[in-house]
Formats: sequence, structure tokens, C-alpha cells
Amino acid sequence: MPLYSDPRLLAAGIIHGTTDRAAGNMRLAENTHTLFQMLDIPEEKILRFQQIHSDTIVTVADVGQARTVQQGTLPQADGWVISHCPGWGAAILTADCVPLILWDERAQVIGLAHSGWRGVAVGLPGKMVRTMRQAGAEGTLCAWVGPHIQNCCFEVQDDVAAQFSNYIEKRNNKLFVNLNQAILDQFAAEGLPKDRVSLPYYCTCGDKEHFFSYRRDHTKDALLTFVYTPPTKPLA
Ligand SMILES: [Zn+2]
Repeated sequence: MPLYSDPRLLAAGIIHGTTDRAAGNMRLAENTHTLFQMLDIPEEKILRFQQIHSDTIVTVADVGQARTVQQGTLPQADGWVISHCPGWGAAILTADCVPLILWDERAQVIGLAHSGWRGVAVGLPGKMVRTMRQAGAEGTLCAWVGPHIQNCCFEVQDDVAAQFSNYIEKRNNKLFVNLNQAILDQFAAEGLPKDRVSLPYYCTCGDKEHFFSYRRDHTKDALLTFVYTPPTKPLA
């Protein structure tokens, strides 16, 4: 099955990606089991949380902490920053919200966030960069912005538009938000330049063949975005 991923991060040895509609609704355990079995990833080592459209980030600094998070109650959060955890990973669910993956020079500090417009509005993308630095991220960071609702389809009313005044596009008397530009600006303000950010133009709402979309279909079907550091990846 197709996975949307970043060649730079694959080259760095990190298994990751966003699933395609063909993989099924990733809210269903049977579908995540199938995916991780196919990829030969131990699913019990993929950390999960309950997403709340916040700027809350869970940091995991080593394998011991990963185990503690896995055994505890499900955190309520929208970002992961996982460092120095060979053999562990994390996953998030999205339909139209933005999946973000970030990594540092050696791919030892990995970030994964579920950032819908609410997350962008409260500054989650920028906070991810800061949190990665605090976690020891080295060198220039890289980021990948996965499939989400793009400015072609993300029409909003005045209340949401008011939170994105610099990122509104007007067409046919309708207001659309350009989340990509807002994310790029937050990254740049934290020292992550746009030439390090990959933004493939996949629109979940506009491409029914490949993606689920809450906006389009009003269902809760979701795509999964995951990151996993193989146990064999050497610690730099
Ligand atoms: Zn679209």
C-alpha cells in the first residue's frame, strides 16, 4: 500500500509516513495491526495519545521514558518529541489536519505533531521546533508537512479567518486559509528555514481517491502518520 513520506528522512534510516485511503480507516485496530505487521514494526512500541487540538507536546528522552509512557494512561496531547529511542516510535491520526514530522541533523531527535488549524493558531508548529532544541536537536532541522486540507479547499467563516489574518485568500467572495504559509512562518521564526521544509501538495479534501476528509465526507475515518526508529539505527 502507498505511504507518503520524505526521501530525506528515509535516507536517514527513519521508517515513517502517512497512510493512503487504501490502508483503511486507521481508527480501527485491525487496520493498524495490518499496517505495522506489513512493515515489520512492533506495534506495542508505537506510542499513542489522545488528540485534543492543543499545543501540548509529550517529550520522550530515552527508552526508559518510552516504556513509562507506553505503560501509563493515554496522554492528552498533539505533539511528540522523541529522542534517542532506537526501537520506538509514535503515531497520530488525521483526516484534514496537518501531520508534521521534524528531525535533526542526525535524525536522533524526531518530532511528530497533529496540527489542525487550531494547532497552527496556538503555535504548535513553532513550539515543536523549540521543544526539539530543548531535547538536544543538533544542527539545522528538517521538516515534512504531510497530506492535509490545502488552501484550494480550506474555506472558513469569519471566526476562523480572524485567527489567520495574514494567511487568508479571497476567491469568489469566499475566504480560504493557507495553513502551509502559516506553518512555514512559525518554523522560520524559530530558525527552521523554508528550504529545509518539504510541503508536497496533497489535499485530503480534494483527492477522494487517496485520502479521507472530514470536511468532504463528514465521517471520522482517519489516516495514520507514524515515525519509527529501527533498533539497529546507531546512536550518534
Ligand atoms: Zn483541495
